[in-house]
Amino acid sequence: MKRIITSIFAAVLLLNLAGCASKEAEEQFIGMDTAIRLVAYGGNAEKAVEQGMNCVMELERTLSRTLEDSDVAAFNAGERTDVAAETAWLLKTAAEYTRTTNGAFDITIAPVVASWGFTTDSYQVPEQAELEALLKTVDGTALRVEPRGDGRYDVITEEGQVIDLGGIAKGYASDRMADIFAEQKSSGGLAALGGNVLAWGTKPDDRQWQVAVQDPEKPNDGGAWVGVLPLEDAFAVTSGGYQRFFEENGQTYHHIIDPATGYPADSGLTSVTVVADCHKESLEGKPGNGTMCDALSTALFVMGEEKALEFWHDSGLDFDLVLVTEDGQVLVTDGLTDGFIFNEESGYQYEIVS
Ligand code: AMP
Ligand code: MG
Repeated sequence: MKRIITSIFAAVLLLNLAGCASKEAEEQFIGMDTAIRLVAYGGNAEKAVEQGMNCVMELERTLSRTLEDSDVAAFNAGERTDVAAETAWLLKTAAEYTRTTNGAFDITIAPVVASWGFTTDSYQVPEQAELEALLKTVDGTALRVEPRGDGRYDVITEEGQVIDLGGIAKGYASDRMADIFAEQKSSGGLAALGGNVLAWGTKPDDRQWQVAVQDPEKPNDGGAWVGVLPLEDAFAVTSGGYQRFFEENGQTYHHIIDPATGYPADSGLTSVTVVADCHKESLEGKPGNGTMCDALSTALFVMGEEKALEFWHDSGLDFDLVLVTEDGQVLVTDGLTDGFIFNEESGYQYEIVS
């Protein structure tokens, strides 16, 4: 018997902690395979939310692996190699994160993700031989893009490679949301795309947004949180095995795959939240820190505590972390500890990392 659980609502429910007096514009909808909530205050709030919705739906039409005729689906099916400029920038950025994370983040993991059934929701444990064959095609550093001269770009990969932007596309969408909040002069706003949160400006009472970190052991209890991050002009992106998984013969298999093994990452972490500052000026379509947080949360989940903290120290990238471990710890890097509210009732042990 298989049990299939997808908790796409968990991260959004948490935002109820955010307190929402005198809200100007809000929309909740399903897009990019997740529950999305957009809220805007000040400036052209209605317009910010409306443009945000359109932008997310448009990005889904371009970047989805499963929507026929998206850039990604058409490329994967061998129908065309050319993609829009935005897709090309994102692919190039994804390849760069494959290099910086030493292969822990890799969008060419696509065939392996599909073999576990996460693309089609028909879950199964693949044969070892199948995994080994598929892993031979996984190497995101081989991916390049070249301008064609007509505004579109050609994607160049090794023979047989296919791509899955599921680990980075929502972060990219949150970069675009920041552009929209900037253009529409929003004084405050929230964009929550599943585990990807952008806290723009402040709440109408001038206080910071409060974004809770879900207890990964209780994915279906939106009230179970390990801590709360007070955020202003920041991205907070969480990756966790609890966000999408299935069970077979008493074993749990989740959707974040370790490219070194082809199996769901088993690194001792149950969730990784990456926090970084948000740009205040428009990036005009280029990937920014929202994209970075998304790529890194997936990669650091694969790496595990020790390597993730080493990466935090040594990568030269500017971000902070909340790591939740299988053995009951909540590790918070020192850039966040000023305002972080640890939930003493959560049963976890709180540790500051510097
Ligand atoms: P996230 O929730 O951002 O951590 O992304 C997880 C999604 O990214 C999965 O559902 C897959 O579509 C894809 N994915 C899984 N493993 C990896 C990986 N090691 N690198 C890049 N993308 C991945
Ligand atoms: Mg990610």
